[in-house]
Amino acid sequence: MWQFFLSKISILKSGLFHVILLLLLGTELCGFRCNQNTVHLQCHACGGMMPSRTNNNVPQHCLGCDRAFCGAYWHAQRLSRSDFHVVCSHETFKPISERTISRIPFLAHETNRHEQDITERCIRQMGRTLQDVISDWIVKFNNREIDRTRMPLNHAEMVTASTHVCNQCYDKLVSFLLYWFRVTMPKYLLPPDAANREDCWYGYACRTQHHNEDHARKRNHVCRPTRGSNI
Ligand SMILES: [Zn+2]
Ligand SMILES: [Zn+2]
Ligand SMILES: [Zn+2]
Ligand SMILES: [Zn+2]
Repeated sequence: MWQFFLSKISILKSGLFHVILLLLLGTELCGFRCNQNTVHLQCHACGGMMPSRTNNNVPQHCLGCDRAFCGAYWHAQRLSRSDFHVVCSHETFKPISERTISRIPFLAHETNRHEQDITERCIRQMGRTLQDVISDWIVKFNNREIDRTRMPLNHAEMVTASTHVCNQCYDKLVSFLLYWFRVTMPKYLLPPDAANREDCWYGYACRTQHHNEDHARKRNHVCRPTRGSNI
């Protein structure tokens, strides 16, 4: 209840900021005029408002989750954060190919930390960086060399390297690509302790890996299920 109340206040506040901004700028915002009929979108990240533009080629929604984000819009309008207007940094909503990554996302390998550690050691052993590996896989992804059935993003078939996605969807995409990086890797390239493990029958869908540390470590979970309902 309290949170609901707070979120209402923040909507009011950001709406008010927008109105103040428009007054200051004389209702003119880089060639676009708001009027009482202008539909506004609320950014999912900062809670700020932006006018909904349909005749504009700057994306205002993340294709992966359909939520509104203002980073690309205000960047295109050359407007940045100020004291009286809530605006996201451009970094939070930009094309997949322009993003960089330095850490394996928390979501990777169904949040199994042992598998994340193995992936990290694999990459290091190959003398590469996470960024190198992801850049390669984004090329393969863009060339449609990867089966997208399990890709956890909306409109998966429409996503390309130039699609704008939010931070959360980018982490999901990287996690999806790291799955393919691992399943296509020959066993002899894995660190020895990882190569000697047997595949868990339930593969990535195994639930035991989430509450049994020993099992999570002793079996490989970056593989397709051969039992259970996810085959
Ligand atoms: Zn407006
Ligand atoms: Zn998203
Ligand atoms: Zn925003
Ligand atoms: Zn298992």
